[in-house]
Amino acid sequence: MPDRPDEYRAAEVETGWQTRWDVDRIYRLDLDTVPRAEKFYNLVEFPYPSAEGLHLGHVFTYGGADTYGRYLRMRGRRVFQPIGFDAFGIHTENYALKVGEHPARLTSRTVANYGRQLRRLGTAFAWDREVVTSDPSYYRWTQWIFLRLFDAGLAVRKTAPVVWCPSCLTVLAKEQLEGGDRCERCRTVVTQRVMEQWFLRITAYADRLLEGLDELDWPDFAKRLQREWIGRSHGVEIDFEVEDTDERLPAFTTRPDTLFGVTFLAVSPEHERAAELIGRFAVHPATGSRIPIHAADYVVGAYGSGVVMGVPAHDARDWAFAMSHRLQVRRVIDPGHAVLVGAWTGEGVLVDSGQFTGLASQSARPRIAGWLEERGAGRRATRYRLHDWLISRQRYWGPPIPIVYCADCGVVPVPDDQLPVLLPAVDDFRPSGNGLSPLASVESFVRTACPRCAGPARRETDVSDTFVDSAWYFLRYPSTEFNDTAWDPGRTARMLPVDLYAGGPEHVTRHHLYARFMTHALHDLGWVPFKEPFPRLRVHGTVLESGAKMSKSRGNVVNPDEHVERAGADSLRMYLLFCGDWQEGGEFSDAGLRGIVRFSRRLWRLLTSAHQPGRGAVDLAPLDRAVARIQREVERLKFNTAISALMELARWAERERPRMSAEEWSRTSRAITSSWRPSRRTWPRRRGRAWEVATRCTSSRGLSSIHGYLSKRRSRWWCRSTGG
Ligand SMILES: [Zn+2]
Ligand SMILES: [Zn+2]
Repeated sequence: MPDRPDEYRAAEVETGWQTRWDVDRIYRLDLDTVPRAEKFYNLVEFPYPSAEGLHLGHVFTYGGADTYGRYLRMRGRRVFQPIGFDAFGIHTENYALKVGEHPARLTSRTVANYGRQLRRLGTAFAWDREVVTSDPSYYRWTQWIFLRLFDAGLAVRKTAPVVWCPSCLTVLAKEQLEGGDRCERCRTVVTQRVMEQWFLRITAYADRLLEGLDELDWPDFAKRLQREWIGRSHGVEIDFEVEDTDERLPAFTTRPDTLFGVTFLAVSPEHERAAELIGRFAVHPATGSRIPIHAADYVVGAYGSGVVMGVPAHDARDWAFAMSHRLQVRRVIDPGHAVLVGAWTGEGVLVDSGQFTGLASQSARPRIAGWLEERGAGRRATRYRLHDWLISRQRYWGPPIPIVYCADCGVVPVPDDQLPVLLPAVDDFRPSGNGLSPLASVESFVRTACPRCAGPARRETDVSDTFVDSAWYFLRYPSTEFNDTAWDPGRTARMLPVDLYAGGPEHVTRHHLYARFMTHALHDLGWVPFKEPFPRLRVHGTVLESGAKMSKSRGNVVNPDEHVERAGADSLRMYLLFCGDWQEGGEFSDAGLRGIVRFSRRLWRLLTSAHQPGRGAVDLAPLDRAVARIQREVERLKFNTAISALMELARWAERERPRMSAEEWSRTSRAITSSWRPSRRTWPRRRGRAWEVATRCTSSRGLSSIHGYLSKRRSRWWCRSTGG
């Protein structure tokens, strides 16, 4: 066969086939005819175009999600795998500030480049349904959703202590902090400000978000993180009278059994009345004794009432505070053994506790709670760590919040038929730092007519946060061609919820929580027929380079283009999926990539060289076992072990090949390539096309891109070879 190349030319093979896939539109899916039972909505988090292009971490993430989608296609599922860009927001705007380019211009360039790179990786995304959140055809509906939440009382304006990033010059949600006190985007230590802001009332859904977790097929750690983030605790709110006043300070505790051990009250320094309370005394509700009131940093202002009852004998932080302030310690729980130093926070028997002395601490809790309630000195209460979701940003690059302020009518929502409220084009988009968005200085934007009385009015000038854009994008994908509705009910009922969502660990307490809240709320308002958007979630790991996480802020981001050029997209993807467990992460090394390139070449030679038939009667059981194992591992998203199995299979095939009959080799070579070639329809009927087939098979070789050609039919060969 003179036309068979001896060498594997990745770039030639890959770009040839990628062009063909594009022309044939093989990744398009007719969403009006796909049977619900066959559809598979394979969703992966869309990227922020907050750099010039992709980094290797993206290739790891998208490579894994795409490989799984390809596998499902081979098994006959009708895979819907859309992609888009989370283009609005601080991420993109900060990059625009850094490079000194207007975010609108920047975004159109970077989105195009990300798209080029994703295509060049041979991914099977449905580009005909691309969503870009900064496009008015998208954010019109982001604003529409805000208005539905506003109508329902779930979007509210209130004054609250908020977190301010002195570098980004905007407020942030608490979820956007890293390590509790740094901005997640720029790592500046944040400060507090008291401002009037827009909030979404996610706390109204705290219980439902907690209870919904039980039903979800999510990694245990992700459920645990959300549970801890919501932080529900049951306890008692106990009233402490301030001496010589009628005032009562409520303090929440989960341990009312330690009531008799209270020796001080600690007030948050941010408590609105901290200044006048400090140095005074409160009255113990059970013993009537005087207890001092102190300010303590460990009392979080907005958590609960900002007042904590100090029980140094039975709480570690109260103990530390009492020691440094030389406060009294009263032990009221006896653990039955000596406590040498510090607080005893476990259970025990009550001592020095009035009529409750002698009770076990667990049974004392409801008794003391009931006793306080009877005397009107307290009440059972539930507390959450979760705060309402602060969504207003004093920045430029986001959807304007569709609200108008009228001197006569007050806060007036923009009518639906006036959406979108377009983001005005301004040259100076830099944040001002005076607590106002750059939009506030655009007079033509700010001055408007009140939709209710037609009198002069002012527009809200804050924009909403990126996480609002991404809290509903998965609803939009199946309905991108509808301009009169955010999502079409028929399409939504057919395609949603998402069958598998692949996301990053950093989003568990942010985006994943927000999207769940949004869907629950929209369900309650009758807009979507389900409550949980992501019944099945898998969290991918991170690729390290020399032990460090690759990220833009660390400046060690590797542009995948150079690797794609040198090694080929398929080898790069296969290597990244091989270098570690996809759900745990791996470490990138050039040497490792070279090893996979060698493997690709070996496989190429094995599959493209002419077979000289041997005697036959080779036991093909190892072949069937290997294929079954690869399938099993891919289903568990264990791509690294699937690739190992493939390597073993290739070695076995090389070894046994000289003895194989023509038929045995044909079956073996087809089994090796079948992972990458799904359809009988695309299998050659004429021998003359052998080279083309080999090219096609190896072009998308590797589990990284399981097959070359999408089929609308079930892969009979694959099923047969695995006994399926
Ligand atoms: Zn910042
Ligand atoms: Zn008015």
